Amino acid sequence: MAEQQYDWASMGIDVSKPSIARAYDVVLNGKDNFEVDRAFVREIVKVVPEIYDVAAYNREILGRGVRYLTAEAGIRQFLDIGSGLPTVENTHQVAQATAADAQVVYVDNDPIVLAHGRALLAENDRTTVVTADVREPAKVLANAEVRRLIDFDRPVAVLLVGILHHLHDDEGPQEIVDTLMDAVPSGSHLFVTHFCASSQEARDAEAQYLSLLGTGRFRTPEEITAYFAGLELLEPGVVPLPLWRPDGDVPADLTVGQRLMYGGIARKP
Ligand code: SAM
Repeated sequence: MAEQQYDWASMGIDVSKPSIARAYDVVLNGKDNFEVDRAFVREIVKVVPEIYDVAAYNREILGRGVRYLTAEAGIRQFLDIGSGLPTVENTHQVAQATAADAQVVYVDNDPIVLAHGRALLAENDRTTVVTADVREPAKVLANAEVRRLIDFDRPVAVLLVGILHHLHDDEGPQEIVDTLMDAVPSGSHLFVTHFCASSQEARDAEAQYLSLLGTGRFRTPEEITAYFAGLELLEPGVVPLPLWRPDGDVPADLTVGQRLMYGGIARKP
């Protein structure tokens, strides 16, 4: 995208520093990013050359997870928080391919997501995009658009895919997860993927994320598993992304990139 093409500032879009959503768009080979985002990714590539593959692993588990939730767990309502810019195989496309009546609310705090999401969703009345911040979970839950499509008396899949590592420890990610899961009934599910401190390269990447982007906590498998406390963790638990219910064979020895993020799904009893 051209920095000069629109009055981005009037849309709340800051093109002077990298944004999480736009940097992720870079590693997904998207077009909705600026030079400042691409420059950030070039620095990450120096410590984790496989970072583009990591984004692909994350999108693949998102697809496998949403297919599981729709086809096997029978979920028809998705609250996808930190949804990112529209790309291919978005949550509503995966869910509605299995169940045409699935309802999806995308939530993101980056206004560029709303700007691009509206166009994609213009003709889909079972899907919407909301600009809100997960650090204010009560506001997310009270949002009128969220309430329009999500019935909190029926099971909900809460997706926190690739977002919790963008919360600092002192922002209370555990309390945020607990607030969201307290609001949904038995039979609801929590789906998390998260950067993991699984190698020296991961720790080096954490240092780069924190200094250049301002967020990016690479937590331990134990810390990531703790988000699911009080829920029934589904097999195979919290694992490197390619190991979560893979569609095909997975090599025995995982690379740094294949171990850079962990994820899992749990059911609320
Ligand atoms: N969930 C998508 C996926 O996994 O493919 C996108 C993940 S992207 C790495 C993380 C997204 O979380 C970005 O779009 C970013 O804007 C959003 N995000 C970060 N912090 C947030 C916050 N405090 N509230 C809402 N969204 C946030």
